[in-house]
Formats: sequence, structure tokens, C-alpha cells
Amino acid sequence: MVKRILKWSPVIGLALLIAFWRFGVQHWLAVHTGSVNTPGTPPNYNFFSGSGSDLQEITLLGIFAGVWHRVNCHEDGCWRIGRHTVDGTPWCNRHHQAARQDNQASQDR
Ligand SMILES: [Zn+2]
Repeated sequence: MVKRILKWSPVIGLALLIAFWRFGVQHWLAVHTGSVNTPGTPPNYNFFSGSGSDLQEITLLGIFAGVWHRVNCHEDGCWRIGRHTVDGTPWCNRHHQAARQDNQASQDR
């Protein structure tokens, strides 16, 4: 029963959002995203100085993902820091021997 409710909760939430759109949801969303213009300020000032300025922080997620890919062990599912470099790829203490053997086997072929 609980699984069924959890499964359908996005649909129910979307239906409630659509049902109450004209009764406060639209205005709440406009205020909290900064789409309501304040008198005496340029258009969309509230958006660009409010929640819109947070959009640039998405680039930080890209930087973190890039750094993680650069230093993380390249064995699937391994979360360790790669301290050994085999053919330009980082490998952790546990997986670097297997990576060296695979690298050597591919060079022998
Ligand atoms: Zn590893």
C-alpha cells in the first residue's frame, strides 16, 4: 500500500499543482522565483539577484564531477582515491596491480 502511494505520489503532486495553479500556486511560484517585478527596479531584477543567481552554481557541480573523475579510481564501483597512475589513469592501492597486468597484457598483444 505504501509502495503504491510512493509510486503515484509524483502524479498526485502534479495533479494538485495543476488543480491549485490559479488559487495561489502561480503567485507563490512567481514570488519565490523572483518573477514578480518590484516597482522602481529593472525588469526581472528580482530573478537575477535572487534565485536566478544560483543557476551559476550548477557549474560548481560540473567542477566537482570533473575533479572526482580525475582523482577517483577507475575500477567500476570503486570509491577510493587513485594514488597510482597506470597509462595516465588513476588506480587505488587495491586495483592498481590488476590494471598494470591488464595494461601489460594489452601491450604484449
Ligand atoms: Zn579501486
